[in-house]
Amino acid sequence: MQETTLAEHDWMSDVRSLVGRQYGRIYAWDRVNEAMIRQWCEIMGVDNPLYTDPDYARTTEFGGIVAPPAMLQVWCMEGPEMNHYPPGSTDEDPYEVLKLIEAQGYPSVVAVNSELDFIRYARVGERLYYTTRLEAIGEEKTTALGTGFFVTLIMRFFAEVEGGEDEPVGEMLFRVFKFRPAERPEAKPEDAGDQDGGEAPQAIPRPRPGISDDTRFFWEGCQAGELRIQRCTACQELQHPPGPVCARCHSFELDSVAVSGRGHLYSFVVMHYPEVPPFDYPNPIGLIELDEGVRLIAGLIDVDPEALEIGQRLELEFRTFDDELTLPLFRPAAARVAAD
Ligand code: ZN
Repeated sequence: MQETTLAEHDWMSDVRSLVGRQYGRIYAWDRVNEAMIRQWCEIMGVDNPLYTDPDYARTTEFGGIVAPPAMLQVWCMEGPEMNHYPPGSTDEDPYEVLKLIEAQGYPSVVAVNSELDFIRYARVGERLYYTTRLEAIGEEKTTALGTGFFVTLIMRFFAEVEGGEDEPVGEMLFRVFKFRPAERPEAKPEDAGDQDGGEAPQAIPRPRPGISDDTRFFWEGCQAGELRIQRCTACQELQHPPGPVCARCHSFELDSVAVSGRGHLYSFVVMHYPEVPPFDYPNPIGLIELDEGVRLIAGLIDVDPEALEIGQRLELEFRTFDDELTLPLFRPAAARVAAD
């Protein structure tokens, strides 16, 4: 990310005084258990018997099933209800710094990176908790997304030890960028001495697709006004997204066919937050099942996000962005006249 540094704001010194602060414990709802481990491994496609086969795990140096280290964050999650933590957990908000920055006119947030350090395996039956430290707040930066601050938190995970000292099992660094989107006009700084060129904010283009030898036909089709779906010439199966091999019969003999662009809404999401330019919000995105049988993900247009219905008929419309990027989008099918 290309960055430029700006002058520091007065209010920032109060926010910076929080750096180094340690926030209290957040406990796990459940002890480390075989059921959650098995379900996690199933979903993630992990087949290491150390995690799922008790007979095998007993023969190892660990003497039984242990949790995959990558599950570290899973144990202490709150569940679908926000800030719903088990009794004994702190009431403090480790993310208070983000609210303070937001109050100064930086509404958007995007996770930048996360690093996990593993100290030892968590074992079945152990109760975990973590504490959070506000590690750093960067200087104000301007990136392609907008202007704001990189904020780094470090969560340290421990296993409780009865009658002894709790043992650290791992650490997670979590960095976010709390920012004011680039498309918005800059708020006028109170300090008149602050440099402010007043130049118009730069328009953010749509992200470009990564085009490979396997997907080029699809994007060329969009340019030509055709929705092209990959076809296996050995077994005639259509597949999307395109790949180098037929997922059904493993043939490499693939071509493509132009499809009708008619289908129905199989599923959808409506993106509300964070607002990332240049998209409009709320941003409805559909999983569309084409009449030819394959599904694809595409933006939905000319719809009221509140009125979307699974199964509703859709039709294709190509739209071109930034004078060069043509995307297949879908809108509600025009109502048919008379008997149909
Ligand atoms: Zn095939």
